[in-house]
Amino acid sequence: MTPFRYERAADAGEALRLGAGAATAYLGGGTNLVDLMRETVARPDHLVDVTGLSATITERDDGGLLIGAAVRNTALAEHRAVRARYPMLTRAILAGASAQIRNMATVGGNLLQRTRCAYFYDTEGARCNKRQPGAGCDARDGFNRIHAVLGASEACVATHPSDMCVALVALDAIVHVAGAGGERTLPLAELHRLPGDRPDLDTVLAPGELITAVELPALGLAARSTYRKVRDRASYAFALVSVAAALELDGDRVRDVRVAFGGVAAKPWRALAAEAALRGGPATAAAFHAAAEAEFATAQPLRHNAFKPALAARTLAAVLADLAKGEAA
Ligand SMILES: Cc1cc2nc3c(=O)[nH]c(=O)nc-3n(C[C@H](O)[C@H](O)[C@H](O)COP(=O)(O)OP(=O)(O)OC[C@H]3O[C@@H](n4cnc5c(N)ncnc54)[C@H](O)[C@@H]3O)c2cc1C
Repeated sequence: MTPFRYERAADAGEALRLGAGAATAYLGGGTNLVDLMRETVARPDHLVDVTGLSATITERDDGGLLIGAAVRNTALAEHRAVRARYPMLTRAILAGASAQIRNMATVGGNLLQRTRCAYFYDTEGARCNKRQPGAGCDARDGFNRIHAVLGASEACVATHPSDMCVALVALDAIVHVAGAGGERTLPLAELHRLPGDRPDLDTVLAPGELITAVELPALGLAARSTYRKVRDRASYAFALVSVAAALELDGDRVRDVRVAFGGVAAKPWRALAAEAALRGGPATAAAFHAAAEAEFATAQPLRHNAFKPALAARTLAAVLADLAKGEAA
């Protein structure tokens, strides 16, 4: 591990002031960053602890929520309003990691956790364009079972690992960011990048920019929502495919719907094509399957993950069928 200096910021202003250095990294719960430092994938020489930022969940008059960046994953999952109004978010968080890790992990850190591609972590033996731009990608022709089928590039086929972000993108979450130029907000859907020829850049954040909060708009249909994660082990494993979905029916037709997939791309994948195919149509198994197939029409599977589009379609169809029956499984 590279030697580093540690400082703790009392608030966002101090974090920005301390975080201006070229090799400075913000430290949330440390459950991802410290692992990356141990493996020498990340080599900051200065850590600014940002767990002193807001750890409050504020209920807004319109029914939405403002979630401070330092809120721990467990606290968010267990919050009364989240459980009642956004159950897919509670389920997504609880599907991730372990209780101990969720107790440490923060909202800001969860959004910016890095891929679990084994070639990214293998500093000794593997080429990885995300870790070392221009080096090449050993995952493309390697063991790529967990890798992307949507939005990948020649340079990178890694997936984004967060469960929480899949629910957040389905819920139209807004990210609050502060930087040298002031404060700004952006839809979570625009935070993470597809790799293109710059897979080293996971997000659109500028160096030194700080996540200060995540906002959940009021969304009535989210009260009838869920998250389902398909993985190789029943717990403590990342998603092969996951689905976050909310469904509102008008009789036997779909009045409104939200769908996002995890485990299929370098970003949490909002399924706009599937939503468009479903909205106003019949709430039938055939329509649910057809919607998923529309979303994966452009999928480009790799040697070991050709099962993913079909798995995603079956998972979405099962989730929507349960929601239609009023069973949030
Ligand atoms: C064994 C194991 C299993 C796991 N399984 C899952 C799983 O199944 N599903 C899942 O979703 N996750 C899983 N995780 C990942 C876990 O959810 C993340 O490690 C955690 O959410 C990261 O949060 P953190 O606060 O610890 O971030 P840190 O490790 O502190 O930071 C992560 C990144 O975010 C940056 N950062 C932190 N806070 C801010 C901020 N406010 N503004 C700007 N940048 C910031 C850091 O600089 C760093 O780059 C697993 C982790 C482990 C170790």
